Amino acid sequence: AERRYVAGNPRSERRFREAGAVLPGGNTRTSLYYAPFPVTFVAGEGQFLTDLDGHRYVDLLGEYSAGLYGHSDPRVLAAVRRVLDEGLSYGGPNNYEVELARTITERFSSVELLRFTNSGTEANLFAIGTARAVTGRSKVLVFESGYHGGVLSFRGEAPLNAPYPYLVCDYNDVPGTLAAIQRHRDDLAAVILEPMLGGGGAVPATAEFVRTIREATARHGVVLIVDEVMTSRLAPGGLQERLGVVPDLTTFGKYLGAGFSFGAFGGDRRLMERFDPSVPGSLSHPGTFNNNTVTMAAGLVGLREVFTPEAVGELNARGDRLRDRLNALFAEFGVAVQATGVGSILGLHFQRSPIVSGRDIDPAPDKRALLHIELMLRGFYIARRGYLALPLPVTDADLASFVDAVGDVVATHRRVLR
Ligand code: PMP
Repeated sequence: AERRYVAGNPRSERRFREAGAVLPGGNTRTSLYYAPFPVTFVAGEGQFLTDLDGHRYVDLLGEYSAGLYGHSDPRVLAAVRRVLDEGLSYGGPNNYEVELARTITERFSSVELLRFTNSGTEANLFAIGTARAVTGRSKVLVFESGYHGGVLSFRGEAPLNAPYPYLVCDYNDVPGTLAAIQRHRDDLAAVILEPMLGGGGAVPATAEFVRTIREATARHGVVLIVDEVMTSRLAPGGLQERLGVVPDLTTFGKYLGAGFSFGAFGGDRRLMERFDPSVPGSLSHPGTFNNNTVTMAAGLVGLREVFTPEAVGELNARGDRLRDRLNALFAEFGVAVQATGVGSILGLHFQRSPIVSGRDIDPAPDKRALLHIELMLRGFYIARRGYLALPLPVTDADLASFVDAVGDVVATHRRVLR
């Protein structure tokens, strides 16, 4: 399969070799690299991507969940064109930021006040900073395989972490987490939690795990930060709504910027009020592009007109059906593969044993590479690590052909995948 991939992508390969002269690894985002070389894209339209050698793919990666609206939603494009005509970068307040803030607070009920940033990483850094400033405590509890940004990654690759003292607990480990919160309660500023491990393998939190953390943090005055950068698309009010948890702070990113650089952190009024600069001793949160009009206007139209609560429900139901169909197919072929996740976000893993934390996941790099390359050869783009985030324009027919393609790959490599 890899030989066919290399033979079919000479232009991408050449571009990759040339790029390595100025970009270590040939591009500027670690997660985009895969062996032998990633294809370079030149166009996107709706649910489709086109690469340098002219292949067309159904895009099931959806820009790691940020590309939820697809590549050319007419409502988003119209909003952006209007902003381009109005003028860029005013260096002062604008109307779009207020409207987007209001729309987000209406949608996510735990968020009373919020601030925008340029990425999810930045949103998490500010949320943690807020917790440390407000509590006067230093430590942060994180979870193994959690991902909160390039400098807030606990997935086991060599980290470049922000300089806070961290405690790491296992995901979904109720007694271990409870004990750690109790042991460190006097010095613990925050617990930061993904309500589903996203980059860590699409592993949902149990309701009991989330409830225990909420109770213990409230009891000890620890700020609970729920990172919904990836998961806020999984219910109209975010995965926190589905889990029935009210965090102190929530962080956002990805699709809420409708494809443009975006992040936000917000929550409890008493915490977020600390950012009011008219009050002496307020916390500082500048940032040149925090209110950039392109992101604000695109995000606003996306949330108001494209990703309506009905659209949220339909897309997640489609994701659930796809997961069920894939798992039925794996059972039918008797292969040790499983699809995890919630709604429109899916993880594919090469094992039968249950996955409740990042430690349970078999990395199976060769099988992941095999499935990824075979699917690309059949016109489907997913992440090498087996991650999918369905974009809205993907149709039931696209998903039916995807299931057929997976079935074809599984049938071809049944012995390897058994
Ligand atoms: N938190 C989570 C849960 C994420 O999935 C990501 C991005 N994959 C981030 C934070 C970081 O967001 P960004 O890439 O915009 O910095």
